[in-house]
Amino acid sequence: MELIILGSAAATPIKERNLSSIALRYRNQILLFDCGEDFQRKFDEAGLKFNKSMKIFITHFHGDHLIGLPGFLFRLSLNDRTAPMMIYGPRNLFLYLYIHKKILGLKANYPLKIIEIDHETQELIEFDGLDSEIPRKTIKMNGNIVLDSKYFSIKYALVEHSVITFAYAFIEKPRYGKFNPDRARDLGIPESNLWKKLQEGQIIHFDGKSINPVKEKIVGPKQPGRKITYSGDLKPCDSLIKLGKDSDILIHEATFAKALAEIAQEKKHSTSVDAAIDAKKMNAKQLILTHISARYQSDALILLEEAKEIFPNTIIAKDLLRITLK
Ligand SMILES: [Zn+2]
Ligand SMILES: [Zn+2]
Repeated sequence: MELIILGSAAATPIKERNLSSIALRYRNQILLFDCGEDFQRKFDEAGLKFNKSMKIFITHFHGDHLIGLPGFLFRLSLNDRTAPMMIYGPRNLFLYLYIHKKILGLKANYPLKIIEIDHETQELIEFDGLDSEIPRKTIKMNGNIVLDSKYFSIKYALVEHSVITFAYAFIEKPRYGKFNPDRARDLGIPESNLWKKLQEGQIIHFDGKSINPVKEKIVGPKQPGRKITYSGDLKPCDSLIKLGKDSDILIHEATFAKALAEIAQEKKHSTSVDAAIDAKKMNAKQLILTHISARYQSDALILLEEAKEIFPNTIIAKDLLRITLK
């Protein structure tokens, strides 16, 4: 599991920083959070593969978080992509992409689903590809969970910004500990599909007996999964704290230094100090500051120092920063 920052700038890209985008490599798929303009170049530079199963989560409709999405989809349409893609975001996400189909001929020859999150009705509105303006189905949401899969779920929270904005949390499900193949062999269980079941903690029936892999010490006991929260753009609000409770990593916007707290408040953004307070409040293990204003091009360290005074385990994002989560 690896986190890669593809863009860490706010509003204006600079030489060292592209606009917002974050990739998470997890179990042979790529999760992307925001698609700032031209993020596809960083995606390529990071060595990420274009024909992978992908899920994209857009926080809000400000250009610096989403203008790169159509460009990326155009690129994918030039390749022989076959892997599925799901794109999540606020209402009108389909319309935004559909306009690119109507005017610029955007195509998707691979399985594509666009899923709009309707916070008011607590529904997910799912469109099949770019062809039909009629949603394929509407699903009632359960506890702000937008995606629930075998190994992880994605939860969102509505946060305070100048337009409808979502923060997202990647929440891994509890995992069984290390698999001990010698122990399985000792019990006479042949290397087969049964091993896969044991690795996943399932009780199997073998040779007239039922075998519990944890009790038999074939796998270690369940361990909590990992959690990563991404704030999107926001001014401090309780909904983010609730969403990000006990995160391993909090990626938080820090557009301004504390000297510009008034402007941050007015523009519904955060300072580095706000980000640090949020990390502390939610009991996060590590904080990554991102969405850095171009005014700190030469001295972004001020943001880091201010945050560290409150939350010592803080780093500042830079493009192509990679973090492996154990
Ligand atoms: Zn922004
Ligand atoms: Zn914004």
